[in-house]
Amino acid sequence: MLMGINRRHFLATPGLASVALAELGCANWEQGDHVLATTTLVGDLARHLLPPEVPVILLMGPGIDPHTYEPTARTVAHIRQARLIVGHGLHLEGRLTQLLEATHEQAIRRVFLVTRHLETAQPDRLRQSDCQWDPHIWFDAELWSDTIPPLAMTLAEVYPRHSGHIEENKNFLRSEFKKLHREMLERVKAIPPARRILITSHDAFGYLGRAYGLEVHAIQGISTAAEVSESSLRELANLAVEREVSVGFLESTVSPRTLEKLRALIKARSGSTAETSFRLGGELFSDSLGGAGSGAETYLSMMRHNLEVISGALSNG
Ligand SMILES: [Zn+2]
Repeated sequence: MLMGINRRHFLATPGLASVALAELGCANWEQGDHVLATTTLVGDLARHLLPPEVPVILLMGPGIDPHTYEPTARTVAHIRQARLIVGHGLHLEGRLTQLLEATHEQAIRRVFLVTRHLETAQPDRLRQSDCQWDPHIWFDAELWSDTIPPLAMTLAEVYPRHSGHIEENKNFLRSEFKKLHREMLERVKAIPPARRILITSHDAFGYLGRAYGLEVHAIQGISTAAEVSESSLRELANLAVEREVSVGFLESTVSPRTLEKLRALIKARSGSTAETSFRLGGELFSDSLGGAGSGAETYLSMMRHNLEVISGALSNG
């Protein structure tokens, strides 16, 4: 089995994944030449480890919310054609999770989840929220760096003639992620302590807060598939007024609707003169990298983009 904790989220979903699985049939394990990556973030890891001649195809491109992704006939076709499927795990991929698990268990295709070793061997390094693992581990650059060696080992097994290249890239990539980690620590430390409060649409930034010393509050839980609770909106509005938080952050894969609602609530509590007391402080990339020209096309550029947006907005009050 690929995943251990809390199966209720995907077991409760209707039969689309099982229909899609039936369509997969019994493909040959060794067919296909490319890697299929479920999200932009795991695709970025695979692309930086492999040489350019091994194509890495993304199932979910930039801007797609993995929590609410629905497997389709196209998903099945991509799985059938891949040599290896690299997924994230910890239920980030929502309804795709069941399909990935069955694909691997029935030996239709090899599936590697980049968070699997953490879940099975180092669960104390993971966050939990509402009895589920928080999947957004990439926001802790040190933790994300630790997904590289097991992935590199799997890629070297599947593409043995590229093992030297993969090993070199592994070492370079880890050193770049560690450099980013130190940079993040320094930049957040430079924000005045009372202003280190991050309000966002959904709870994607818990690892960022834990690793770098930001207090994180979100309107929605760790999955965007969950309902938005009116009481959590009210509580957050109260907190923003009491602690004089003046900025909330939009997310690239989430509708701005709930943050607009929060802003209206804060305005109502603060009085009519507080038109500008709570503003939206720029867009963060949360569950997907940015598209071409966004300045957030890779993991490193996405993290640095977010750091600039957060540091700029919070430092200026
Ligand atoms: Zn998320």
